[in-house]
Amino acid sequence: MNNTEFATLPLAPALIDNLASLEYVQMTPIQAQSLPLILEGKDIIAKAKTGSGKTAAFGLGLLSRLDVSLLEVQALVLCPTRELADQVAREVRRLARTLANVKLVTLCGGSPSAPQSASLAFGAHIVVGTPGRILKHLDKGTLRLANLNTLVLDEADRMLDMGFTDEINRVIEHAPRHRQTLLFSATYPEGIAQMSQGVQRAPVEVSVEAQH
Ligand code: ADP
Ligand code: MG
Repeated sequence: MNNTEFATLPLAPALIDNLASLEYVQMTPIQAQSLPLILEGKDIIAKAKTGSGKTAAFGLGLLSRLDVSLLEVQALVLCPTRELADQVAREVRRLARTLANVKLVTLCGGSPSAPQSASLAFGAHIVVGTPGRILKHLDKGTLRLANLNTLVLDEADRMLDMGFTDEINRVIEHAPRHRQTLLFSATYPEGIAQMSQGVQRAPVEVSVEAQH
């Protein structure tokens, strides 16, 4: 077994078995660089191009910290668009399919918020969504982050471009200070360092450069 196989990681056997059944055997380069650090609980800034497997990097991290017996929101993934949030939700559900009863709710703008509130009332472990709608649920009190342990900013460069910085900061005001914060991005414009400074603690940077 070489050291970029998922089986070398300290993951629950149910997750390792599921990865094998999904035919995920070798970690992608960004997964190999980031997952050991994520599983140690470090904050990270991970930069790698689209299609490099960033979702499974943070998805396996947040699933590893999940206590399924506690039906409270423990992980929150912020995405720039509904389409990207749906993709992340699909991949995280796939990764979680051998863990019993993991509840994931997506909260995006453009959908009525009453059914979202009803889903939240039934209980959720993981929330994936766009910053504006998540903030709306936080302000209404239908979403609470008192038990949050993992916050993910996915496609942070796009969220920056789309002007979500203020909403992201307001979402984070509702989160506990003691948490792991993972920032993923395809590019590293100046604003990313600033965003990180406000929300992360001693982040480790990892990046996989495009091959030429
Ligand atoms: P990114 O977020 O970096 O754009 P994704 O997380 O969407 O990339 O992953 C791209 C594709 O690669 C997805 O279809 C995913 O299922 C697949 N994938 C991710 N990691 C692995 C792996 N280790 N082995 C095989 N396929 C993988
Ligand atoms: Mg992605």
